[in-house]
Amino acid sequence: VSSDGLEEERAGFRDALLGARILLASDAKGVYLRSATFEAVVAGIDRLVSEAASEEVDDRLYLPLVVARSLLERSGFLASFPDLVGAIWGFLAGEASFAELLAALDSQGDWTSQLEATELALCPAGCHPLYPALRGVLHKERRVEAFGQAFRHEPSNDLARMLTFRQHEVVYVGSPQGAVAHRDGWVARAKSLLGGLGLDTEPVVASDPFFGRLGALLASQQEDEALKIELVANLAPRVAPMALASVNCHRDHFGRAFGIVRANDEPAHSACVGFGVERIALALFAAHGLEPRAWPGSVRERLGL
Ligand code: ZN
Repeated sequence: VSSDGLEEERAGFRDALLGARILLASDAKGVYLRSATFEAVVAGIDRLVSEAASEEVDDRLYLPLVVARSLLERSGFLASFPDLVGAIWGFLAGEASFAELLAALDSQGDWTSQLEATELALCPAGCHPLYPALRGVLHKERRVEAFGQAFRHEPSNDLARMLTFRQHEVVYVGSPQGAVAHRDGWVARAKSLLGGLGLDTEPVVASDPFFGRLGALLASQQEDEALKIELVANLAPRVAPMALASVNCHRDHFGRAFGIVRANDEPAHSACVGFGVERIALALFAAHGLEPRAWPGSVRERLGL
């Protein structure tokens, strides 16, 4: 199949999902309205992840989509991925500038020049809001189930690159050995969870899309140390190979950045597994068809459909 043929297959799959009103397009590229059918599948995936995590976690938290702007600075996200960031601007000028705002609006001019940066930004990665909340001395290792939300500014029609998406995570914070064990254990558990849904995946050593020329160096370091392992499903030609889950070892990056300290005074190490629930749902529609009622019985049962 030529690459044009693959492109066509993928566009066809997107058209089919929109045609069946499983997702509805919006005026913003990469932002969709989601149907109850889509969300029922997502709820099933969430429940499976919760079940898989239930024996080890000591807390379950729902993390915000909006964060303090300083989080982007301290996490290092802004320095590494400036092209993906979303900062929030507001009209802070008061009544004196209101007339100018209205005039710009009336003349269909540029009203955005009336806005100023706020202290807020959109959360760029599911688990990041958790780390400032763990600041201080860690008396024992923590395993937290986190329902994270993320925004990344990369408008496209690729369904695997929605602008906002959810990451259902299990985060470990504690010792260096514990973080490595968390990563290794969850590669196997995530593969088996996805396999139970009829989604065959391969663990692939991966890197984040660091920005710029220095970024290539950071990415190759990340790969050399196998800090990021993605579980990639190959559903070609309907969908490009896509990572359905990723397992990340952060070493002491967040411990240092957010002042999370172990009892021995060392900065805590952390690791997380993140399930991309929208992508897993898309993979299920690609693998089993657009009508969940017609999916294999074992898959329906596992998802509680
Ligand atoms: Zn994470």
